[in-house]
Amino acid sequence: MALILDGKKVAEATYSKTLLEMSLLPVVPRITFVIVGDDPASQTYVRSKTNKAMALGIRGETISMPASSTEDQVVAKVRELNADRDVNGILVQLPLPGGINKSRVLQEIDPNKDVDGLHPVNVGHLALGEPRLVPCTPAGIIEILKFYSIPIEGARAVVVGRSDIVGKPVAQLLLMNNATVTLCHSRTKNLKDETSRADIVIAALGQLEFIRADMVKENATIIDVGIHRTPNGIMGDVAFGEVSQKVGALTPVPGGVGPMTIAMLMKNLVTATNFQL
Ligand code: NDP
Repeated sequence: MALILDGKKVAEATYSKTLLEMSLLPVVPRITFVIVGDDPASQTYVRSKTNKAMALGIRGETISMPASSTEDQVVAKVRELNADRDVNGILVQLPLPGGINKSRVLQEIDPNKDVDGLHPVNVGHLALGEPRLVPCTPAGIIEILKFYSIPIEGARAVVVGRSDIVGKPVAQLLLMNNATVTLCHSRTKNLKDETSRADIVIAALGQLEFIRADMVKENATIIDVGIHRTPNGIMGDVAFGEVSQKVGALTPVPGGVGPMTIAMLMKNLVTATNFQL
């Protein structure tokens, strides 16, 4: 049976460090979530992020805008928050309703308040290997690997999924940590050949239990990013039951990558607040 990489444990360690850094700040950080429309999953995500912020003593608030909001109205709200010196972090919850250009909205966020790390300036810093504010889920994955002393340097890492939020940034972080990185996607030929060679597999493709035992090598480390709400509860992109019998270590779903996403958001908020002092 594989070592279970406990994201909750790593998140607790991350919160302890964040609280320490926060205690050195001259202000109590404040994060503002902007949610447009009434997508239930987005509401749940924002609620859990706000609750965690409050539990840590961080100031958090949510601005809810109707689904009928125009792109210009959302942009105007972002500009207002940019100008508010009392707001240290801005997170526009994705997805945005159809008709609103996500890229334009994200580009409007002050890069120093961009706690989701999705502004082109922050994306560019990461691509240059000089990260400032890094997307939370990828940053959390690296924290899990480091917490459990999984060797990254020299490891053959295969990332399945090339989204801007998970796949690409995690590939860049692995590269920065000197892994040999292969980035796979839906047009990859012979995906199984790629994953079977990997020391580290990051499954971020959004397909329920897609990664099976015959796709991974013994002793590999598997990070499951997927989130699927099923009648049997939340499940991942990895067939946990069979894969856990073969590999060396893997993250569970829930309780793996998920808790780290919020932990890294709070860490980013403290980093962002420091940029603004
Ligand atoms: P996207 O849908 O944006 O991207 C999915 C990626 O996977 C795409 O690059 C796509 O390729 C690739 N892909 C899809 N099917 C296959 C396939 N059969 N073989 C190979 N590649 C494939 O997803 P996200 O990155 O936003 O999210 C991925 C998963 O992670 C989802 O389940 C999501 O819910 C979860 N998630 C979890 C988070 C957490 O906190 N734990 C945070 C964010 C996401 P192509 O580009 O060619 O279309």
